[in-house]
Amino acid sequence: MKDNRFPSKEYLENEKIMSFYHNFEDPSIFKNDCCKECKGYCCKKCGCAYYVEDFEDLSFESLKKELEKETISITSVIEMDKIHGQMINNPVLFLRVRNRKRGIIDLFSEKTRCSLLTPDGCPYSLEERPLGAMMLLPKKDHDTLACETLKEVNDITIENWKKHQEVLKRLVKYYTGKPMEERLKEEIRNAIATLAIAIRNNTELKERQLQILEPIKYLNDELTEYTNPHDLTLCKRFSKYMDM
Ligand code: SF4
Ligand code: SF4
Repeated sequence: MKDNRFPSKEYLENEKIMSFYHNFEDPSIFKNDCCKECKGYCCKKCGCAYYVEDFEDLSFESLKKELEKETISITSVIEMDKIHGQMINNPVLFLRVRNRKRGIIDLFSEKTRCSLLTPDGCPYSLEERPLGAMMLLPKKDHDTLACETLKEVNDITIENWKKHQEVLKRLVKYYTGKPMEERLKEEIRNAIATLAIAIRNNTELKERQLQILEPIKYLNDELTEYTNPHDLTLCKRFSKYMDM
């Protein structure tokens, strides 16, 4: 992990980012008493994301060492686009602080709270936190939390991780014995099967279940190849119903 991490030129050359984050010159914008008040609402939802700038060395051996500290997972975000009527799914791997009850490889699952969060808050100092945590600006709008990471920042972050997909895929293969695509299809199958059980049992879905249900309606046949078709139809229908 780097000692001195800060946004790389992709962020610094972006005017909108520079003005949103006050040119990164006023560190007080990253601190706000509302974090103490809300007691880590964001950290209870999910571990924060690492950016490539968090790492000194993104080689296989160095990332393996980081992963073996058991505080990080390889996860994915699935980019979705419709081109000529066809749904295109593009999984992008990245690293995130490990969620509770999740392992080294956690490509597609319900989010759970950050495994590092303690009753006293984050064990890391502000400077040690992954950039994903730093870039979430704590804010309150009247009495409502309005914390935000600028979309442009997330876009650059994903683009930066795209340059390191091969090493992350090799690590998925190393830890699971399977190609990333196969492992992802299995995790999608398992997540959808669990959701389908909850829907059939008429269980009121929790926020984290609704969150994972949302993208399911956009998954294409390739990524759902291993999924039970009845489970898939049920989840897709339910997801569309939730939009109405
Ligand atoms: S960033 Fe926002 S949600 Fe997260 S702990 Fe601070 S106030 Fe709470
Ligand atoms: S590492 Fe710290 S800031 Fe990040 S989610 Fe966990 S508790 Fe929150």
